[in-house]
Amino acid sequence: MKLLVILLFSGLITGCGGNSSRSLPSKLLLVSFDGFRADYLQNYEFPHLQNFIKEGVLVEHVKNVFITKTFPNHYSIVTGLYEESHGIVANSMYDVITKKHFSDFDDKDPFWWNEAVPIWVTNQLQENRSSAAAMWPGTDVPIHNTTPSYFMNYSSSVSFEERLNNITMWLMNSNPPVTFATLYWEEPDASGHKYGPEDKENMYRVLKEVDDLIGELVHKLKVLGLWENLNVIITSDHGMTQCSKDKLINLDLCIDRSSYTLVDLTPVAAVLPKINTTEVYNKLKVCNPHMNVYLKEDIPARFHYQHNDRIQPIILVADEGWTIVLNKSLPKLGDHGYDNSLSSMHPFLAAHGPVFHKGYKHSTINSVDIYPMMCHILGLKPHPNNGTFGHTKCLLVDQWCINLPEAIGIVIGVLLVLTTLTCLIIIMQNRLSVPRPFSRLQLQEDDDDPLIE
Ligand SMILES: [Zn+2]
Repeated sequence: MKLLVILLFSGLITGCGGNSSRSLPSKLLLVSFDGFRADYLQNYEFPHLQNFIKEGVLVEHVKNVFITKTFPNHYSIVTGLYEESHGIVANSMYDVITKKHFSDFDDKDPFWWNEAVPIWVTNQLQENRSSAAAMWPGTDVPIHNTTPSYFMNYSSSVSFEERLNNITMWLMNSNPPVTFATLYWEEPDASGHKYGPEDKENMYRVLKEVDDLIGELVHKLKVLGLWENLNVIITSDHGMTQCSKDKLINLDLCIDRSSYTLVDLTPVAAVLPKINTTEVYNKLKVCNPHMNVYLKEDIPARFHYQHNDRIQPIILVADEGWTIVLNKSLPKLGDHGYDNSLSSMHPFLAAHGPVFHKGYKHSTINSVDIYPMMCHILGLKPHPNNGTFGHTKCLLVDQWCINLPEAIGIVIGVLLVLTTLTCLIIIMQNRLSVPRPFSRLQLQEDDDDPLIE
C-alpha cells in the first residue's frame, strides 16, 4: 500500500514537472576506467565509488558487445551500435578492398570510424554547444571531418591529473559551453592483463588506486562548483578473465602459417585464408575442443557480428580463459574479448547528477542502451541505433518506469484495497439492515389485513 502511494505520487510529480528544469541543456561527463569488471565492485572495497553510487544510481552488469575488446566497445557506448554496424570490429583490422590496416597504434584514419556518428559529433552540430575529450578511442580522429572542439591526442603517459585538469577547465571556461565530455583511464585493464584478475594482492592495490582517482574526480568537481549540476557516468568497456599457461590453443599444431593471414589473434582470431577457405576451415575446425570455429556466414546471430566487410571469412572464438597462440608462450595472465554472454566480460555503470535518481540499483542494461540515454540527457535526436531507451528509464528522474516486481506489487496492492473496501461495504450493509426485519415483523403482527379474510 505504501509502495502504491509512493509510486502514484511520484508519477504525478514527474508527470507534471518532469521537464521544468530543461531550459538549459544538461551537461554530461562520460568516464571510462578500462577493463573494470562488474564483480570487482562486490569483491573489493571502493569507498569513493560507493559514496558516488549512494548518491546516484548503479547498474550492476552492463552486457557489452561482441567482441569484448576496447576499441569496439568504446565506440558502441558512444554510438549505440553493434560492431557490425559501427565498423570498429576489432582492435586490429584489415580491409580487403582498400588494403588498409588498423591497430591500437595506427587508428587515426577516419575511414575506419566514418560508418557511424559518435555522440560528441552530434552534440557539436547543435547550436551553441561544444564537446571535449580527455581521451576516448576515436576522439582524436576527425570523424565526419569533426573532432571535439577540445581534445587530447592519445598518450598513455599523460597522468590522470592532467586529463582531469583539462576536462574540468574545458567544462568551466568554454564558449560555446562544453555540454558533453569524455575522460578515459587505462586501469584496471593494464594490470588485469599483467597479473590476471585472480591475483588478489596486486588487483587490490590497483583497484584502490582507481578508487582514489574517482575520489580525486569527485573532490575536484566539488571544489570547482561543478558537482551539483554536472551529470557524471562512470562505466567501462569490458571485464577481464584469468588465463593460464595450461589453456593454450596453438594454431601451429593444426595448420601451416603460409595458408592464411591472421588479422587478429586472441581470444577471437580473425582468419583471412590464402588458399581455399573450406580447406582452412576444415583444418581449424578440428584443431582444439576449446575453440569454436565459424565461417563468417555461420557466426551466431546473437553476436550481431557478421554484416561488415571488415569481419574476416573465418573467426575463431576461444572458450573463457583459453588463449589462441602461434607458439607455446602465454602473452597475458588476464584477457578479454570472449563471448559477451559471460559475466566476467561485463563492466558496470554508475551515474550521479541532477537527471539521475539517488540510491537506486538496477540489475542490467546493454552497453548500446547508454547512447539513447545520453542523447535524452543532452536533448539530442539520436541516430538510428541498436539500443533501447526504455531499458534506462528507471535510472532517470524525469521518466516514469515500472519494473516487474513493482508491477506485481501494484496489482497485489490494488487487489488488497478492493477486497478491503468490498468487505467493509458488506459489513456496513449488514449492520445497517439488522434491526429492520424485526420492526417490520412487529408491524405485521398488528396488521389486520381485510383483504386476506
Ligand atoms: Zn579495454
